Amino acid sequence: MSDSYEDKLKSVKKAVKKLNYKNFDSWNYIKKPLQQIAISLVKKTNQKNPPIKLEPICENIHPNIDINIRIKNDEDKFGSMTPTESGFNIYVFSNNNKTQRTVISHEIGHIFFYNLDQSPPSKLYEASRFEKSDLEWICYDFGRELLLPRTSEAIHEIDEYYSSLPSPENLKQITNSWEVTIDYLLRRLLHDLEKYDNSASAKISYDQRKNRYVKNKIWKGENWEKKKISGNEIIKNDRIQNLLKNLEKDIESEVALNDFEFKIIAQKYKHYILCNFYLKD
Ligand SMILES: [Zn+2]
Repeated sequence: MSDSYEDKLKSVKKAVKKLNYKNFDSWNYIKKPLQQIAISLVKKTNQKNPPIKLEPICENIHPNIDINIRIKNDEDKFGSMTPTESGFNIYVFSNNNKTQRTVISHEIGHIFFYNLDQSPPSKLYEASRFEKSDLEWICYDFGRELLLPRTSEAIHEIDEYYSSLPSPENLKQITNSWEVTIDYLLRRLLHDLEKYDNSASAKISYDQRKNRYVKNKIWKGENWEKKKISGNEIIKNDRIQNLLKNLEKDIESEVALNDFEFKIIAQKYKHYILCNFYLKD
């Protein structure tokens, strides 16, 4: 495999052209070339330390492609991207820097599904209704590769420094230095990089209608996956519900329960509770 960025662009283009909605595996073939593109872009822009800046990345995607980022200060969390005469406009509907960066890094992923040698760029592949979610996942994978590059030593220093999953507060600090959302960071550490096998982390919020705490999202380390402990089952537990209620009253900001099969450290934030679970040996 050749090392040049141009060759990597060619291989991703080839993989996109081979996409076939009848062959679900074809989506897997595209992951690697896209990952290589992201790694190359970080390298090309000589970025080793956090935060990884997206402006130089945009400038280095293709000599003929201009990318304009338009920030709209809406509360809405989504973004979109449209081809222009000379490249792309990326629209971001958020006033939060970390969310903006998530959206932009993801939208950049979509760019490689276009023919960049044409102006205006034309779509190389139109995803079918069934494929839309695959495409979205793949573009998020790409985005994490840009913002939290696996090639960066600084990423691997996180688990050299923290022998177990960092506490919610420490995770927050890491998101501040990398300027990424907590969702990106947790998926990166626990899923992509397979760190902290004995840990899981969940975003939990209070559901008024159900009158109890519910899980919004959970990220699991490998051993946690193997044990098949369901996030919903844990959170349904009465004692955990009580613990979360106490957090709400601000009695303690951090709590550890030691008589479960796992330990819990939770922290309350404005819109959710971040709850870390640590399996005991
Ligand atoms: Zn998308």
